[in-house]
Amino acid sequence: MKVQHGMRRKPDLETLYSINADGSHNVLQPADVRGKWHTRKNIVFTILIAIYVVVPFLRVGGYPALRFDIPNRTAYIVGHTYTREDFYLVFFLLTGFGFTLFAVTSLLGRLWCGYACPQTVFLEGVFRRIERWIEGGRNDRMRRNKGPWNFDKLWRKVVKQIAFLGIVFLLTHVLLAYFLPVEELLPALLKGPEDHWLAFAWTMCLSAVLYFDFAWFREQFCVIMCPYGRLQSALIDDDTVIVGYDEKRGDPRGPKGKVTGDCIDCGSCVNVCPTGIDIRNGLQMECIGCTNCVDACDSIMEQVGRPKGLVRYDSLRGFAGERRRWLRPRVFLYAGLSMIGLAVFLLTASKRTAFEVTLLRARGMPYTIEGETIQNLFTIHLQNKSTHEQESSSTRCPRRAAPPSSGRSARRKWRSNRSARPRSRSSRSCRGCSTADPSPSRCASPRRTRTSRRTSNCASKDPDHDETSSRAGPGCGSSSCSARWCWRTSCSCGSRSSTR
Ligand code: SF4
Ligand code: SF4
Repeated sequence: MKVQHGMRRKPDLETLYSINADGSHNVLQPADVRGKWHTRKNIVFTILIAIYVVVPFLRVGGYPALRFDIPNRTAYIVGHTYTREDFYLVFFLLTGFGFTLFAVTSLLGRLWCGYACPQTVFLEGVFRRIERWIEGGRNDRMRRNKGPWNFDKLWRKVVKQIAFLGIVFLLTHVLLAYFLPVEELLPALLKGPEDHWLAFAWTMCLSAVLYFDFAWFREQFCVIMCPYGRLQSALIDDDTVIVGYDEKRGDPRGPKGKVTGDCIDCGSCVNVCPTGIDIRNGLQMECIGCTNCVDACDSIMEQVGRPKGLVRYDSLRGFAGERRRWLRPRVFLYAGLSMIGLAVFLLTASKRTAFEVTLLRARGMPYTIEGETIQNLFTIHLQNKSTHEQESSSTRCPRRAAPPSSGRSARRKWRSNRSARPRSRSSRSCRGCSTADPSPSRCASPRRTRTSRRTSNCASKDPDHDETSSRAGPGCGSSSCSARWCWRTSCSCGSRSSTR
């Protein structure tokens, strides 16, 4: 689009208003707006910012309400501890929230963008507000920007940038409190970066990105980069509630008394738009649903004595005078997928145990033989996933106990233990060691499972090795194999008969 020198460029459907024809940034100066939607948004922004700042300081059950301890691969979420083994839950959680967002978008348009997206909350709720305090309203800012560099312009620009930097550092250090213990954060800040250079580097990088975004890039993030914004055309339809202009009522536009339409073509709705579009051109992808144009137009309608709502929340079907449908197949689909994701997450999280035991064969030599004693080597990995201390104990299987060094009766008892017949399966006791506790972690019997039999008594690495098979594996082939308990049918040590 060509704009002649001296002519003011108007928003259109062919170009992005925030980008000039030469590719440079067309810095927007949205006008101030007052109205009911503005007040509601400010309340929501204040609540969200307060939550963001307060949450790292809250504790539930003695632990942080929300903290991601990256070095220990642990997350604390409202009193529950989640470790890296629980990371798969993130998939279901994100799926649930993602489809919830889809369902809300298909019903109410870009509600998230206008009210809850961090970009909008901090840009509109903090940075633009500070800019207005220091540099004044839209007309003052535009006049000063066009004018020469004098003291008035210089001190305002410098103070504004210092304030922006201060806010950005504050935000990034609050974010840091979601990853570091709050009680360690202040001493770490006072000490200097050498003791925590990684956290320092992350904070500096993030601060630079946020400063660039909030001080200069601004609405371009929404209209160029945001992936959610690009999905809008796929998520919404004619029944979705959006911010729109009532063309039937507003057109033809013009000064009051000269045209029949209600729009007096004052341009207020365009001047307040943070993405620089003209809502009267119809639904556009750049619209973030901030409702600034609704408040601006309502205030104009009030001044000219016409009914409010020329620019309002409604669906395309509603603007056309038809009946709007709330429940549509896409709403059911998104809501259903969202409920599946969240239900699986809640179910899995609620069934999660606070204590986990993993029994692994020790690396290297799997067993040792000393006299009549065979010792199997295992690594037991105990994991306490709860936020409090837990005790664990283990008992030694009587079949696997070492023979007593003295005492005839003790040795007799030991022998009877070793030769004890396994109990029946129906009693739910261990088949191999006859302990009453059927828990696999309590049993060291070679008859417990095929795997344990193989790994605990034979040096063979053959995964198909099985003493019950007539097609036994090739044997361990070890010339030093002296396993009395070897289960292989073709073991070179010839110990087959001792086990059958
Ligand atoms: S058109 Fe209206 S609702 Fe959309 S971004 Fe602009 S001011 Fe906000
Ligand atoms: S604010 Fe209302 S009256 Fe003014 S141009 Fe926009 S739609 Fe028309």
